[in-house]
Amino acid sequence: MNIIFLGPPGAGKGTQAQRICAALNIPQISTGDMLRRAIADQTPTGLKAKAYMDAGGLVPDDVIIDIVKERLQAPDCAGGYILDGFPRTVPQAEALEGIATIDKVVELDVADEKLIQRISGRRVCLKCGATYHVSLLNGATTCANCGEPLIQREDDKAETVLNRLKSYHSKTAPLVDFYQARGKLVKIDGAGDMDAIFAAILKELQA
Ligand code: ADP
Ligand code: ADP
Ligand code: ZN
Repeated sequence: MNIIFLGPPGAGKGTQAQRICAALNIPQISTGDMLRRAIADQTPTGLKAKAYMDAGGLVPDDVIIDIVKERLQAPDCAGGYILDGFPRTVPQAEALEGIATIDKVVELDVADEKLIQRISGRRVCLKCGATYHVSLLNGATTCANCGEPLIQREDDKAETVLNRLKSYHSKTAPLVDFYQARGKLVKIDGAGDMDAIFAAILKELQA
């Protein structure tokens, strides 16, 4: 099954994608993680993407479409995958229609106030992509999966977050209608408990 996770920054896409991928044994394709690794490795793509990401804007469509196109050709995608953070614009969604057949789009719905609270406490592992919240870490500073030090993302700091929410509402939110019109949208309330949300998503995907 080829799945898209759609939702604003902080909605829990990464958290839930990681868990659902483990449960279904399919890869999580997080464009944000791929871009952050490209920046850390100082690749040409990373150098191109950095200024956009630091400002809380979107990386240009052509750059991100090329990355995803290449990634979806890898053998591990043959049995299905979750796209986490792509598409984020209508042109990206249109390009995706020429590359892959999507079965379901899971929209995680969370109010802006709650998103800001989640994002400001987020800590991530750049190595394995695991996501944590500072309120649940009990002082731990390393990744429970792989032992790498956890960091706060540069773009999770306050000024940038507002720009990211703005770009979600203006550029990404139209994808809700785009996929609704194609009969693929499944809306999940992303405000509750992580385990309950996980169970709700799994149930929808298995329906
Ligand atoms: P979040 O999990 O907070 O929604 P991501 O880790 O998915 O954020 O993305 C971080 C940043 O990477 C975005 O703010 C954007 O600059 C860039 N990015 C990721 N995916 C895309 C995409 N599909 N199109 C354009 N930019 C992207
Ligand atoms: P996204 O990938 O959509 O940007 P993340 O999965 O990175 O979102 O989650 C953002 C932050 O919110 C992280 O700190 C994460 O631990 C926390 N979080 C995720 N889901 C929940 C939830 N259901 N309840 C409370 N906090 C959550
Ligand atoms: Zn890790």
